[in-house]
Amino acid sequence: MKPTVWRVAIPSPLRRLFDYLPPDGDYPEQPVGCRVQVPFGSRKVVGLVVSVGEADPDLPLKRLRPVESCLDSEPLVPESMMRLGEWGTRYYHHPPGEVFEHLLPLALRREGQAQRRQEDWWLLSEAGRQTHPDELGRAPRQQAVLARLQQAGGALPAQEMSDLGQGWQSVARRMADNGLLFKESRDPAVPLNRGEEPEMVLNPEQAAALSRIESDMDGFACHLLEGVTGSGKTEVYLALIRRILAEDKQALVLVPEIALTPQLTLRFRRALPARIGLYHSGMNDRERRDTWLMARAGELDVIIGTRSAVFLPLPRPGLMILDEEHDPAFKQQDGFRYSARDLAVVRARQQAMPIVLGSATPALETLRNARDGRYGHAQLSQRAGDARPPALKVIDIRGQELEAGLSGRLLQRLDERLKAGEQALLFLNRRGYAPVLVCNQCGWTADCLRCDARMTYHRRRGSLDCHHCGASRRLPRACPECASEKLGVAGQGTEQLEQVLARRYPHISQVRIDRDTTRRQGALDAKLAAARDGEAQLLIGTQMLAKGHDFPNLTLVGLVDADQGLMSADFRGPERMAQLVTQVAGRAGRGKKAGEVLIQTRAPEHPLLETLIRGGYPAFADAALRERSEAGFPPYSHLALLRAEAHEKTAVQAFLEEAMGLGQATADERVLLMGPVPAPMERRAGRYRAQIMIQADERTPLHQLLTPLAPALENLKSARRVRWSLDVDPIDL
Ligand code: ADP
Ligand code: ZN
Ligand code: ZN
Repeated sequence: MKPTVWRVAIPSPLRRLFDYLPPDGDYPEQPVGCRVQVPFGSRKVVGLVVSVGEADPDLPLKRLRPVESCLDSEPLVPESMMRLGEWGTRYYHHPPGEVFEHLLPLALRREGQAQRRQEDWWLLSEAGRQTHPDELGRAPRQQAVLARLQQAGGALPAQEMSDLGQGWQSVARRMADNGLLFKESRDPAVPLNRGEEPEMVLNPEQAAALSRIESDMDGFACHLLEGVTGSGKTEVYLALIRRILAEDKQALVLVPEIALTPQLTLRFRRALPARIGLYHSGMNDRERRDTWLMARAGELDVIIGTRSAVFLPLPRPGLMILDEEHDPAFKQQDGFRYSARDLAVVRARQQAMPIVLGSATPALETLRNARDGRYGHAQLSQRAGDARPPALKVIDIRGQELEAGLSGRLLQRLDERLKAGEQALLFLNRRGYAPVLVCNQCGWTADCLRCDARMTYHRRRGSLDCHHCGASRRLPRACPECASEKLGVAGQGTEQLEQVLARRYPHISQVRIDRDTTRRQGALDAKLAAARDGEAQLLIGTQMLAKGHDFPNLTLVGLVDADQGLMSADFRGPERMAQLVTQVAGRAGRGKKAGEVLIQTRAPEHPLLETLIRGGYPAFADAALRERSEAGFPPYSHLALLRAEAHEKTAVQAFLEEAMGLGQATADERVLLMGPVPAPMERRAGRYRAQIMIQADERTPLHQLLTPLAPALENLKSARRVRWSLDVDPIDL
């Protein structure tokens, strides 16, 4: 009889599982999903048992080593999630060890007890509930703590308050001394939020969307909830979640970014009588482990998380929701390059639960699925409440005198709106002072030594920074080529806008929100609060400002440069531009006053831009889908990208040429291989980068090619001299 072996996924770049004999000591009857400690080369590593089977007859038995110990007395990863891992390994052609690793939080990927601890919570006392934050007007930090707890419905884990800034705990302790709050170390599995807020009465569109989705909730179903910004998608999510809570099931809510949308979490805490947990990269390993274990144990009813939360196990799966489903943050861009959206849909099907994809600007892939009837399609075309949609207008800036990139017309509207006491937002997706530093004498520009890119001038820091590799150096006094001191800048970033506008409007308070101004803990929250409550009248920011925020007094949005996306070489450029324009525009006129959106461009006749202005995102999407169909791009074809990089260009060429040969030898005529071509930025962080694009109309032949190709590439000698990766369904080319 052939001996039984355990097939173990081990974090390694090899596309295979490793066979071990069962351990000598005790082990569970069914070890699949258990962590095991195994010898691997000369090391000991922790892996995950993926299957149990018979030893490979070709393998000499003597080479099999036993598992050293089984770390779990019962499977830690449930079978349902093991299946998702298997699907991910097959679909993304990625090494199984690195895929299965994603099924566990970092703290559980090594030896150690799978046990959670108690959690510190802050709670409002009755006095705290009755106190209005304004009554603490002279103590702004106490005010912030009180407001946060009230927004959350009266209780929050300490961890969800850490963004209130350094020292907030001592502020809270002082408030506890005054009887406003108290702290409890408690079992997080006990619900604290009572969801006492009355349910909102849904408007007819919301009610129709809800009943459409509700009619199709036993078993798998995928629905696109397409609703313009401010149409009240969140209320529909809440109604759906209440329904599955009543059935004693769990809901998993995925969002692109939690730090940028703290309001959503608070809204959920206020509205739902549920045990709510968070899962995102701002949490430490212990906190993530605790959420994971509680989700796994069924002790949380609702989990709100970012991309990696798609791997949280749920024993009572009821519903998945992906908010802002079009957001590129759902795609992991290194290592295991998965799309959390696509995995979520697969998972929903595997576990027979419904899933809702929500967006004001759905990805073209998702729209096509909805139009072809594979997904349900519920629409919200009106803003909830009395808010009206903003008017979109184009400003042609060709041949115009600009001040810091701002046209006379935009400045004039700014003057008017600010004078009227309203809020305005200027959006520019470029941080720093200027993207180019140039010598006016000889034409030298400050380039990154390690990338094919210019360095960005940061004036306050007095530095030149590369936004691609992180390199930084001091601003030179004189041109390194000709020693002239006539250094100038070209183009503008948010730092420059802020300076120029501070000079123009010395009495208007402004706030700039980009990665440079929000590095300090608590800074982002403080700035967003200033923007929300109208304390800051002029808002300047990058795409951090485009997402999900409500600024009720905002009536003017200026897009300083819409051409970044429009002119990009990536076929997804226009889609990104349209999503951004629509999302940013959605920030205007959320309150009672009508909003206006001014878009500066040098390509006012661009057909897709015209369509967007005239017909909004749905019309844009129609036109863009037609273009994609004619060009044979996704979603009308399927892509994979083989990328390689190395310090020596020749190593990259050698590998990709060999890969091309292998691919062409096996590809059937339904698959097109193109390349090798240099990456859009050929040199980055000192490495040369190139790629091969693989395209097919159908998925099957694409995967038939990749299934043998990926392991074959692993065995190439030339592969050892490069870093290479396969990206299935890449979102940037
Ligand atoms: P979205 O997520 O679609 O952008 P939100 O769910 O944030 O929209 O809702 C936008 C605003 O409209 C919020 O202030 C919300 O409280 C309000 N709102 C939503 N639904 C209703 C409703 N049925 N009646 C009144 N106001 C509503
Ligand atoms: Zn010079
Ligand atoms: Zn660089």
